[in-house]
Amino acid sequence: MAATALPANEIVRAETYYLPPPPRRGQIPEDWSQTPGAELIYRWYDRRMNRRTPVPTGWAPDAEPAYARIDDGRWLAECSACRSAAIVSVADPRYGCVECLRAWVPLIVPVDIAAAEAHALSLPQRFWWHADDPRNPYRPDPEPEPPIEPETPTDPDPEEPQP
Ligand SMILES: [Zn+2]
Repeated sequence: MAATALPANEIVRAETYYLPPPPRRGQIPEDWSQTPGAELIYRWYDRRMNRRTPVPTGWAPDAEPAYARIDDGRWLAECSACRSAAIVSVADPRYGCVECLRAWVPLIVPVDIAAAEAHALSLPQRFWWHADDPRNPYRPDPEPEPPIEPETPTDPDPEEPQP
C-alpha cells in the first residue's frame, strides 16, 4: 500500500480516506466532493479496486445498527452480516457494506464527535492484537470446547513396577 502521509492530529474518516484516483496526465481530476460520505467507499471500490459495488437503494429491514468506533486513528464500523469493517463517515450516518453488498443500516455515531476524537487523539493510537489473545476484544468466537469425557479408571499396567 502506498504510504499516504496522514496528519497525526486528525482521525481518518471516509471523507479523508476514500479519495479519487490521481488524474492521469492531461486529465481533469475527479471531483468527489458532492458524493455523500457513506457512498464514497462505493466509488472508491469501483475506481480504485476495480470492483462493481452498487450503492444501496434502500434500508435493511430490522437490521442491527452499526456502531462507529475509533480504531487506530480511523473511524470504523463493522458489518453485522459479514463482519467486515470499513472506514466510515460520521457526518453521514448510514452504513452499507461493499463486501456483502447489503442495504443500508443506521450508523450509530457519538453525540459529541469532537470529544470522541479528542479523547482518541490523547491516547497512543497504534496497537496490535494477537488473534489468540483472550483479551483481544476483536477476536473471533472461540471454537466450543469439546465436552470433557468422564475418565474411565484403568487397571494398573501389570508390567509397570508398583510402589
Ligand atoms: Zn457485510
